[in-house]
Amino acid sequence: MGIKLMFFANGNTGLAAICNVCGKQVTDADTANIIWFPPSCGDKVGDTFEPFITCKDECENKLELWADKQGKGFEHLYSQELNVGLIWLLQNSGLMPLGGKKMKEAKRLADFCASVV
Ligand SMILES: [Zn+2]
Repeated sequence: MGIKLMFFANGNTGLAAICNVCGKQVTDADTANIIWFPPSCGDKVGDTFEPFITCKDECENKLELWADKQGKGFEHLYSQELNVGLIWLLQNSGLMPLGGKKMKEAKRLADFCASVV
């Protein structure tokens, strides 16, 4: 799970954040975190690895308990609020600044795609 393509009831298909623990869609970024272990590949610039997305509190606690049982120890987990991570995604995808030319064009295209479904 994590960031997935999802079919929506209105006929749209789009990216959605899915909790890795309960499998529910995160509809409020303030209520979820991105969690990761220190990557085994090291920390060289350009290395990539998979994060977890969890609802805060209950699902995050379950992930920490699972990590502890795996012998990874939850004290080694790193986390970032999902709302912060999504801003980083926009930044790293070249869409920032908010309200800038690229963001306005992306919003116009997204609105157009939603209108033709
Ligand atoms: Zn959850």
